[in-house]
Amino acid sequence: MKINSNYLNLKDNYLFADVAKKSSEFVKKNPAAKLINLGIGDVTLPLCTAVVDSMQQAVLEMGQKETFKGYGPYQGYDFLRSAVKNYYASRNVDISLDEIFVSDGAKSDVANILDIFSKDNSVLVPDPVYPVYVDTNVMAGREIQYLNANEENDFLPLPNRSIHEDIIYLCSPNNPTGAVYNYDQLKQWVDYALENDAIILFDAAYEAFISDEDLPRSIFEIEGAKKCAIEFCSLSKTAGFTGVRCGYTIVPAELNFEGNSINKLWFRRQSTKFNGVSYIVQKGAAAVFSSDGMNQVKESINYYKENAKLIAKVLTERKIYFIGGKNSPYIWLKCPNRMTSWAFFDFLLKEANIVGTPGSGFGYNGEGFFRLSSFGERSDILNAANKLKNVI
Ligand code: PLP
Repeated sequence: MKINSNYLNLKDNYLFADVAKKSSEFVKKNPAAKLINLGIGDVTLPLCTAVVDSMQQAVLEMGQKETFKGYGPYQGYDFLRSAVKNYYASRNVDISLDEIFVSDGAKSDVANILDIFSKDNSVLVPDPVYPVYVDTNVMAGREIQYLNANEENDFLPLPNRSIHEDIIYLCSPNNPTGAVYNYDQLKQWVDYALENDAIILFDAAYEAFISDEDLPRSIFEIEGAKKCAIEFCSLSKTAGFTGVRCGYTIVPAELNFEGNSINKLWFRRQSTKFNGVSYIVQKGAAAVFSSDGMNQVKESINYYKENAKLIAKVLTERKIYFIGGKNSPYIWLKCPNRMTSWAFFDFLLKEANIVGTPGSGFGYNGEGFFRLSSFGERSDILNAANKLKNVI
């Protein structure tokens, strides 16, 4: 019996463990200190009432013989896929029900999609980045090419037309940087993918944070994208579903490689290895797209965005370079005085009792940068903004 030795090539990621360790050591030494956590990548507001009501109703249905449900359809119930279809239609993107696959979240699908691609593909991953893209390719034994996202390109790298790649990861709004691609920039990626017969894996987990009308929320707003892209979406950050688990992936019918329908291959993969998301959760998810649901989740998103504004205001006043925080829950700042990411972490912890996330944990280009999250209580954010102002 041999293991998949690619797993031995995975680098240990101690980022959040180290953050927790340093924070608890600090509290032990300074018991009076009250830490403010701006390092969280998880939502803090509860589910909205439209979702709770819908899920309660679904639970009651499951308890009645007449309305009980067993296994659901592989791609998700029509009521949820129709809601997703209408959500896209409201932005003039035409998606058919067969192109929508309901899942338990974007992380699983972003990882599992690699099942249907050959190991021989070249892979382009932006740096800094959500670590799942890297680790899942290492597990599959693929070599990764990194795409530098840095201050020079405003953390929005564009294709290098002299290099060929097969699989391209894009995340917009980005985790950790909060940077968002505009139409023209995404068009350049779509054109590149079409020219190179490449596929774009577009992670739109934070699309609901985009309020700027001039920015695309879906890659399918770009002409030609249906021939070269898959989009991964999630209700985790949109509607506080991190603990409920529901997302959806759009695999266009037009997406073909070597004469094979990617949609059909993904259906084959999912119907073999995945038995769907519970009826109760799908009912809750569908309620997100109702008019009450949309208004209620918008309120929560606006709450986080207001938090981000308060932090951004201090950074602007203190003339600290940062991006994000406008169409994203994350603020990505340059550590002052050329501090390393961890030096700034220690400084903020000691001087302001604020916990953030060192940028170096997200990749080579993250060194010297720092991620602050706007997921949190308003009172904590106000407190943190005041403290930040005093120490930077
Ligand atoms: N994609 C990005 C960029 C994320 O930051 C996250 C979670 O933090 C995910 C996907 C995972 O989302 P889900 O909770 O739907 O699995």
